[in-house]
Amino acid sequence: MILLNPGPVNLSDTVRNALLGPDLCHREPEYFQLQRQVRDQLLDVYGLSTDAWAAVMLSGSGTAAMESMLTSLVPRDGKVLIIENGVYGERLSKITQLHQIPSVKVSFAWGEEISAQQVAQVLSMDPDITHMTVVHHETTTGRLNDLNRLAELCDRHQVDMLIDGISSFGAEAIDFDRWPIAAVAATANKCLHGIPGLAFVIGRRSALVSGCEPARSLYLDLKTYLTKQDDDSTPFTPAVPAYYALTQALAELTEQGGWPGRQQRYADLACLVSEGLAKLDIQPYLPADASSVVLRAYYLPQGMDYHQLHDNLKKQGFVIYAGQGGLEKQLFRISTMGTIATSDIARLLQAFGEIVCRQ
Ligand SMILES: *Cc1c(COP(=O)(O)O)cnc(C)c1O
Repeated sequence: MILLNPGPVNLSDTVRNALLGPDLCHREPEYFQLQRQVRDQLLDVYGLSTDAWAAVMLSGSGTAAMESMLTSLVPRDGKVLIIENGVYGERLSKITQLHQIPSVKVSFAWGEEISAQQVAQVLSMDPDITHMTVVHHETTTGRLNDLNRLAELCDRHQVDMLIDGISSFGAEAIDFDRWPIAAVAATANKCLHGIPGLAFVIGRRSALVSGCEPARSLYLDLKTYLTKQDDDSTPFTPAVPAYYALTQALAELTEQGGWPGRQQRYADLACLVSEGLAKLDIQPYLPADASSVVLRAYYLPQGMDYHQLHDNLKKQGFVIYAGQGGLEKQLFRISTMGTIATSDIARLLQAFGEIVCRQ
């Protein structure tokens, strides 16, 4: 089955085989070595120094990384500006509300561009804001939010950025040098091509050590993980096989040209898909330059509902993804993450052609 949903992704055979590594006790040096290696490899993806940055590993899905980032890094006297233009931005809001973290939000309709002007206004009016949280690639619609503009504003107002990079880390540009980033939340099973179950936060060390005191959560406190992991330890039982898979997946990312190589590969596949679909009169929801390379949303073919399209494609070996919430009636989504061959896309387009013409 070819998975065109935005994670979990199709694994390479070598990543799948890596899962069969030996049973390890997480209190023994063999495990520490694996943990150290993965943490270093993750920093290497964007060329980050171990002095200034740390990769903090968590067992859980991407949402665990989002929740740990917000709860651990906004201090008790801090205030967070949340930017919403899709499901995941709204999830950042929910987390903030549940933990009663002081916040203010700027909301846009799903898929709409973030207006830097509106954000600037809020920042100017509210000097209490210490952090901004925003989704880099809003997987709801495929929109890649322009973080350059937001980073400039944060710089000007001395606000730290907490970025949901879950569906962009490893395949899109994240400017760790110039953006005032406190942390980026991500996972193993999207653009990095590992298995689900392992999430991580790349944090600036200064932000990780000065975070929230006392902690808002036991399991999700990044400082606990950082201290233990720096000391070749782990506070809780880690998902050991997921580390095996991730270390292999990261080695393959390097072989394939690092994040710029992956960005190019995804872009090539996404372009093949959109050109092929355009011939069938299936139109993209966003212009290519507003979309990530990772996922694109398309309008459903005339007169066809999502389930019909999904079920017919699944019979031919492809899983596509629905629009979220109210968008299900309008859109479907195709992600080009994971181990996907160019020939898979050719077969996909052929299947689309047959289904649309048969209709
Ligand atoms: C996938 C995703 C998440 C996390 O989802 P989980 O199901 O918890 O792994 C968060 N944010 C974005 C932008 C995502 O694409």
